[in-house]
Formats: sequence, C-alpha cells, structure tokens
Amino acid sequence: MKEKSVVLIVDDVASNIQVLATFLKDTYDLKIANNGQRALGLATTKPYPDLILLDISMPEMDGYEVFYKLQENDITRNVPVIFVTGSDSIKDEERGLTLGAVDYITKPINPAIVKARVHTHLLIKYQRDELLYNASHDQLTGLYNRHVLAEEGQRKFARAHRNGDALSVIMLDIDYFKKVNDTYGHLMGDTILIAVADILSVGMRVEDFTARFGGEEFVVILESCNAEFAKDKAELIRKKIESTVSDGVSITASFGVCQLNDNHNTFELLLKSVDEALYKAKELGRNRVEICS
Ligand code: GH3
Ligand code: MG
Ligand code: MG
Repeated sequence: MKEKSVVLIVDDVASNIQVLATFLKDTYDLKIANNGQRALGLATTKPYPDLILLDISMPEMDGYEVFYKLQENDITRNVPVIFVTGSDSIKDEERGLTLGAVDYITKPINPAIVKARVHTHLLIKYQRDELLYNASHDQLTGLYNRHVLAEEGQRKFARAHRNGDALSVIMLDIDYFKKVNDTYGHLMGDTILIAVADILSVGMRVEDFTARFGGEEFVVILESCNAEFAKDKAELIRKKIESTVSDGVSITASFGVCQLNDNHNTFELLLKSVDEALYKAKELGRNRVEICS
C-alpha cells in the first residue's frame, strides 16, 4: 500500500464531517466536500481519492446521484464508495449495496468500526488494482501485453475508421535473438528486452501505444500518423536500438510499418499487413524498415 491513502468525505453537515475527519486524519490524507457537485470535482482532480465516504441525504444532489455520476466517469468508476447515512432503513441499505457501493455505514458513527471498514476496503482496492495491472502488463518489460493491444487496437482502429483519421502501426522483432540467448544466456536476453522496451517508451506521445506482442516482438500504434511519419519513427527507433549496448552486447531489430487503408476491415488485418512487412524486412537482410505495399 502507498504511504497515505486519500479518502474523500462527502457530507452536507459540517459536524458529521468533523466526526469522521477527527479519527481518520492521522491515517489518511483527507479531501472534504459539503455537497455533491464539489464531491464530483474533488473526485476527478489529483490526488484522486482511493476511497469515498458518501452521505446519502444531501440537498440538491443526493448521494445516490453522486454515485451514478461517479460510475459514469472513467477516473472514478473503480473507486470504492461507502455510503454513510443517518437512515437505518433496510431499503436504503439495500439500494446502496445493490447500486454497487462496497459497504454501508449508519450514523451515529462508531469510529473504530468505520476505521476498520475503511482499512479493509482500501486493502481490497489495492489488491484489485494489482491484479488488474498484472493482467494487462507484461511482467518483464512493464509494457502493455498482447491482450490490451488487441483491445486498444480495436478501439483506435474503430475511431480512426469512423473519423477518417490516419492510423499507423509499427511491428518490430529483434534480429537473431535466439543466438543472443544461446551465446550470452537467457538473463542477458531479458536485459536486452528491457532495454528495447525502454527505447520504445521514450519520446512517445500520450496517444501512442506500445505493447510487447510476443517473445521479442513489439508493436507501436501511432494515432493521426501516416506511413511516412511512422517510417521515420521506426527508423529512429531502429538506429537507437542499433547503437545501444547492454552489458557489452549489441543487437539490431527489423521493422514492419503499415498505415490503415481500405483493405483493412479489422485491426487484425492491419496487424497481418504489418507482420508481412516485417517478414519482408527480415528477408531483405534484417536491421531495416519495410512499409507494407
Ligand atoms: P530472427 O532474426 O529471424 O527474428 O531470429 P530470432 O532468433 O530472433 O527468432 P526466433 O523466433 O528463432 O527466436 C526468438 C527467440 O526469442 C527464442 C526465444 O527463446 C527468445 N525469447 C522469447 N521470449 C523471451 C524472453 O522473455 N526472454 C528471453 N531471454 N528470450 C526470449
Ligand atoms: Mg527475432
Ligand atoms: Mg520473433
């Protein structure tokens, strides 16, 4: 768990906030909101809350409505919410939990119990975050894995298709990598894979997407980018890889580049084209960039 979790307390009554804040402030960094609108503002600005204690009965926007809005936002959708309310009606509790709140606390507040529940739900949240991270990232390089590449690729493909935007893909494969492993050992191979991933991560725009496609193959998706620009980018990466020496070992890589065109009805077909270009680069001698025809 990180040093201090951020907890957002939402309640329209100052004395209620006071009670919660008093016994949570030593353990957590607190953000305070006395109405729904402010709560949504604070929930979507950094530092983002790790957990939200949300009063249900508030004028103008009640806790349920705040909760719906939190669910609609990518930033806040997965932040655990505990409803805190004066009402001890079973109906309210049922509604809150059915909506997807992780827990429900009724006033008057018992500090020790609230503290314990907040702690538990933060723990679950961090475990969940870790699971999600591991399911979407390659463990060795920290890049996104193939699973996310497929999802993100389809998303970017659909958007470019719809808007008529340019979209290009680079696929690269390290040359004679098997020989590197055989000559210097698997650990050295791993070091080189990490070095290549680092090269791919530097100098990318936020809208660019990089993933480890397989063993020693990587894919970069470049939004609003035509084949020429993508080729220049690939050349740049190729030169960087060529001139990088990891622990005395240097390597090269071959590149395929392809821009989305009318022949590509799906992202998979675009990937297939770029794979063919890469194959051509291998055939023509490696350590080079080929654009798909
Ligand atoms: P080419 O130039 O045709 O691409 O030849 P190559 O040797 O690079 O290609 P090949 O597909 O024959 O071998 C790929 C090698 O990559 C074999 C495999 O052991 C190695 N490899 C795949 N994943 C990893 C990994 O995570 N770590 C290490 N060290 N090696 C890996
Ligand atoms: Mg290879
Ligand atoms: Mg390969």
